[in-house]
Amino acid sequence: MFPKHKILSGPTPLERADVLSKHLEIDLHIKRDDLAGPSFGGNKARQLEYYFGEALSQNADTILITGAVQSNFTRIAVAVARSLGMEAVVQFEERVKNGSTCYKNSGNVLLSRLMGAEIEFFPKGEDEAGADVALDHKATQLRSSGKRPYIIHLSEAYPPLGALGYVDAATELLDQNKEFDVFVVASGSGATHAGLLAGLRGSGSKAVVIGCCVRRAAALQGPRINRVLERLANLYSPANNVIRQDIRVWDGALAPGYGRIGPKSLDAIKLVASQEGLFLDPVYTAKSFAAVTSLVETGDIPKGAKVCFVHTGGLAALYAYQDQLAHMFGFQGL
Ligand SMILES: *Cc1c(COP(=O)(O)O)cnc(C)c1O
Repeated sequence: MFPKHKILSGPTPLERADVLSKHLEIDLHIKRDDLAGPSFGGNKARQLEYYFGEALSQNADTILITGAVQSNFTRIAVAVARSLGMEAVVQFEERVKNGSTCYKNSGNVLLSRLMGAEIEFFPKGEDEAGADVALDHKATQLRSSGKRPYIIHLSEAYPPLGALGYVDAATELLDQNKEFDVFVVASGSGATHAGLLAGLRGSGSKAVVIGCCVRRAAALQGPRINRVLERLANLYSPANNVIRQDIRVWDGALAPGYGRIGPKSLDAIKLVASQEGLFLDPVYTAKSFAAVTSLVETGDIPKGAKVCFVHTGGLAALYAYQDQLAHMFGFQGL
């Protein structure tokens, strides 16, 4: 057993999307993990239950975490740290080149600043190991000034503790409904995708899990999920039972790249907002929801299928993209 600090107030709702179900001719339900945890919520709240569990067991007083400039992980980590009376250091990696002023200052960045996080910058966007080393250096400095830092590492050299949060989510989901044919979920670091898949198989569910690529092409993300599962098996042995063919990745809405809005994401944002009064974020859930519409269109998700879309959150980032979205949708200023 791994120490767990409770961050979610309870199970998140599982809601049927009636209007979209009718429109898409499937039985669509949405797992509202956008409502999980503090500060506008998201999937990272579940992952952080295990990181904070470990941090508290080590009596840490400062949390260090790295992520993209508009990372939801860093924002929720700061919120949880603050509510526990801890300091928080966040490191922003420049993954999205030429981000707008809005991208660099609004959304999650604004919220982290409001919470008084210490902010560091890491110029490279594609160097997970390097980002971890930079955090380690910062932790060394903090230790020498008497602090007790806890580092939430990003790279594949560390155990995927956060994936355990999605093993929990799998049991929670099956308690709510055992009948799903297909789950659709974002696949970035892969902690969410791998944890959900392993948790479902560990609980006997054979449902298809489609991981939607938000950062890397399917040819890279498939093997990455396999590696996350191998590391997860050291923490949760049923992860060993996931077979290769179970790892399904879809990258049809990845273009033009991480943190960038393509036409399919734009359509998804508009569709879900206008049909259900629900919002998707431009970085993760819009790219993921595009899988639902695209795979229904190709028949890979058959008519009438019982589908669960896992809404992983990210809503604070909508405002970091407000200028681009207004421009792309052709909204007129007042
Ligand atoms: C981080 C994030 C994801 C991806 O989760 P991973 O566990 O990194 O794959 C999906 N959606 C949102 C909103 C996120 O912040």
